[in-house]
This record gives sequence, structure tokens and C-alpha cells, in this order.
Amino acid sequence: MSSVNEDYITSYIRDITPERTEQLKILEDYARENNVPIIEPEVGQLIKVLLKLHKPREILEVGTAIGYSALLMAESLEGDWSITTMERNPQMIARARENFMESGLEDRIRIIEGDARETFPHLTKEYDFIFLDAAKGQYMEFLGYAKNLLRPGGLIVSDNVLYKGMVASDDLVVRRKRTIVNRLREFLEYINNMQGYTSSVLPLGDGVALTYKEENLI
Ligand code: SAH
Ligand code: MG
Repeated sequence: MSSVNEDYITSYIRDITPERTEQLKILEDYARENNVPIIEPEVGQLIKVLLKLHKPREILEVGTAIGYSALLMAESLEGDWSITTMERNPQMIARARENFMESGLEDRIRIIEGDARETFPHLTKEYDFIFLDAAKGQYMEFLGYAKNLLRPGGLIVSDNVLYKGMVASDDLVVRRKRTIVNRLREFLEYINNMQGYTSSVLPLGDGVALTYKEENLI
């Protein structure tokens, strides 16, 4: 477990978190066996609540992996929604595509293949909800694009922003993670001081940041 929370807190919250659907449980087993870093159950619940409150129609995700978070989000969306999700790893893309087919959602969840740093500039649509869950050292770059694609009143959710607690304490930082940690610190300071936005950093899972874009941005 990570060092963001005491283990007993995480275990307790997990114990009271409802069971996921059969398909999500199978994906959780697959992720565990193959070391795929999918969102934790407690982060999944937060995202579900946010989606039910916010009712977005156009969702953008950076970091599809096997499609777990996209399928979890799909369960909490209503009406005429669509998810666009970006992934660069061909094996993950193949898995995700199978999983979307299996739930009959292949027409509503579109995968954009390739490195998000290259594919982002081609996106033109506005999104109501953007989930950042890819290379942590690249969040600042993703944010540059995400900000402009987010409609006023929209929300960006960024995962793993406390990175096992390392972001909050030099004592925890292992040498080879120094650059990523510094970049995440820069990202968190930036989103907390960004004009026209309001952010909150939550010590849930591996750390989650919420960034709301004001309605009346000039
Ligand atoms: N959101 C998923 C987990 C994503 S894991 C879930 O919770 O189910 C992170 C994924 O981001 C990995 O599959 C990795 O290949 C992908 N990734 C990392 N950096 C990327 C980039 N620059 N462009 C596209 N995909 C990226
Ligand atoms: Mg994550």
C-alpha cells in the first residue's frame, strides 16, 4: 500500500466500499496479476460521485490502460455521453478495446492511440470532465492542453498526485523518482494558483487533485 494514508484507514474505507460489477472485478484481478496501475476502489467511488453531481456529456481521459476507469465512469454516466481516452501502449490498447466491446460500449468510448503529447494538439472538441491518469512527469504538459479543452464550469481530476507520499515529504523520495516528484510538486503548486480555477488536493488513494474551471473566465 502507499504511504499517503495509514494502512488501517485505507483498509477500512475499502471494506465499506461496495462490490464492483462482475466485469470490473475481473479487470481488477487482471490488473493485480499483471501490475497494471488502475484506480483504487476509493478513488473510483469519488469519481462516481463527481460524475453523478457534475453530469458531464463529453469526457476525456489520459491513460486508458485496460479500460478499467473508463468502464467505471461509464456506469455513472447518463444520457448522451461519450468518453475519449488516450493511450500509447499497443498491448493496453488491444486489451481496452476488447473490454469495451465486451460491454457493448465500443461506440461510446473512443480510444486515441499514441503519445498524448502528440495526439492532444489534434483535439478540438470541448470537454466537461477530464481525467489525467498517465505519466506523472508529464502532467504539466497535459494540463496545458487540458485547460484549453475544458469548458467553463468543467472539472479536471488528476490521479496519483501525491505519489506514495513522496510529493509531500523529502524523507520518502527515492533518488530515481526525484524528477517526477519535483514535476508533481510544480503541477500541484501551479493548479492551486491558477487564475480562474479552484483546486483541491485530496489524500485519497495515491493522491487526487480536483480542478474546477470557473464559469466566467475572461
Ligand atoms: N486510467 C487507468 C489506468 C491508467 S495507467 C485506470 O485507472 O484504469 C497509466 C496509463 O497511461 C498506462 O497504460 C500508460 O501506457 C499510459 N500513458 C502514460 N503516459 C502516456 C502518454 N504520454 N500518452 C498516452 N498514454 C500514456
Ligand atoms: Mg492512477
